[in-house]
Amino acid sequence: MSATTTSAATAAPDFEAVIGLEVHCQLRTASKMFSAAPTHFGAAPNSQTDPVVLGLPGALPVVNRQAIEFALRIGVATRSKIRARSRFARKHYFYPDLPKGYQISQYDEPLCEHGLVQFVLDGQPREARLTRIHLEEDAGKNTHLPGRATSLVDLNRAGVPLIEIVGEPDLRSAAEAGAYLRALRQLVRWLEISDGNMEEGSLRADANVSIRPRGQSALGTKTELKNINSFKFVEKAIEHEIARQIDVVTSGGRVVQETRSWDAERGTSFSMRSKEQAHDYRYFPDPDLPPVVVSPDWIARVTSALPELPAQRRTRFVEALGLPAHDAEVLTGERALADWYEAAVAAPSKADPRKLSSWVQSELLRVVKDTPLAECPIKPDMLAELVALIDAGTISGKIAKDLFARMLQSGERPKVIVDREGLTQVSDTSAIEAAARAIIEAKPKEAAAYKAGKQQMLGFFVGQTIKAMGGKANPQLVNDILKKLLES
Ligand code: ADP
Ligand code: MG
Repeated sequence: MSATTTSAATAAPDFEAVIGLEVHCQLRTASKMFSAAPTHFGAAPNSQTDPVVLGLPGALPVVNRQAIEFALRIGVATRSKIRARSRFARKHYFYPDLPKGYQISQYDEPLCEHGLVQFVLDGQPREARLTRIHLEEDAGKNTHLPGRATSLVDLNRAGVPLIEIVGEPDLRSAAEAGAYLRALRQLVRWLEISDGNMEEGSLRADANVSIRPRGQSALGTKTELKNINSFKFVEKAIEHEIARQIDVVTSGGRVVQETRSWDAERGTSFSMRSKEQAHDYRYFPDPDLPPVVVSPDWIARVTSALPELPAQRRTRFVEALGLPAHDAEVLTGERALADWYEAAVAAPSKADPRKLSSWVQSELLRVVKDTPLAECPIKPDMLAELVALIDAGTISGKIAKDLFARMLQSGERPKVIVDREGLTQVSDTSAIEAAARAIIEAKPKEAAAYKAGKQQMLGFFVGQTIKAMGGKANPQLVNDILKKLLES
């Protein structure tokens, strides 16, 4: 938060922020929204085109069925009302990245309406309403060369299927907007309809922001923030805009309806244009495309093929497996992670779900940061076996940590390593007693100090004894035996 943000926010605590997001999301189809041209990201400029994408005269669009199916998936997952007949419309504007001079979108008859997004903020479950989810095609990409009068146009992205997810103005803080957006990203990835990658532009959010005196129900004038192209900046950009509007109003001005662009480098925004009205776009139904008809049967098939959703899974992890809410949230961050964890819980070793959860979070997630979980040499049943070995007292926690690292190296099962190398924890009291006596004899000063009342010396003896036994001694037994010997 910048200095101005802080001062404005504290000087005027009686304003409430209102935020609604418009999120564009690229669908991961093999071909474009209205033609068979491919959609590879990062291909040579203008290699992913065809006459439809280029808007050549006489080229006719055909709807991509897979794109409709993907949109239905998120429509059903957000409990939206699915329109039986929806329609594509032409939205006109003029820009070099739009060869036809119009974008095919949906206007007054979108595919999905009145949905709901569930998300978590500070451990609390929340909901925000969706106005609509509609389908459209993406535009191309312009590159303006600094210091030159030339701009480059790449039409590879033109015609790529997008869904636009329009949210109701239900969000009340930058943090809430951030949590909402992360939940949407999680959902599109979970449903496998998009990679949700904000840095590569497959997820793009425009934030509509207004303020109003707390307690007022009428909405204030909003501005629309564009060009927030990284998760890192979503909250920052909104925070900045709220503070800017409060500054304008408290210094006697009025917020004007406009589109502003976020400048991440300078941490500020600037006015791009006054907001256009719908009639500026001269929308009308695209005469080249028939209405999209979705049968109840199609919706039923999509519904029954839907995976258990993040919010439901979170709840089940808490209620059925006894996980703390935070653990459940982390473990359901990605569907692959939730699946991995559940496979570990279901493994024959029957390890404690809570202990498994903490091993997954503290050890597994640390080592698989940059690689897909599926490629990890440690498989769910192997971790379950390791946790069960600790629980049964067969190995110590310290040995378990070493074993984990070795399993990662070799892909061997923990039991195999333990048996081969005799790593079984020593719970044989006479062996521990012999080792403990030897340590006490070797450290008479420390022993005397303990006897004189220096309680913390016990830890020193425990550490020395376990070390002498190659880390394999049962720590609880070592503790008990040392106490007995030192106090006798
Ligand atoms: P427009 O006609 O300018 O496109 P819409 O009513 O269609 O505006 O809303 C577009 C987006 O702006 C939606 O996500 C909506 O939730 C949000 N929005 C609308 N009014 C406000 C407001 N006063 N403050 C914040 N967000 C708003
Ligand atoms: Mg609108």
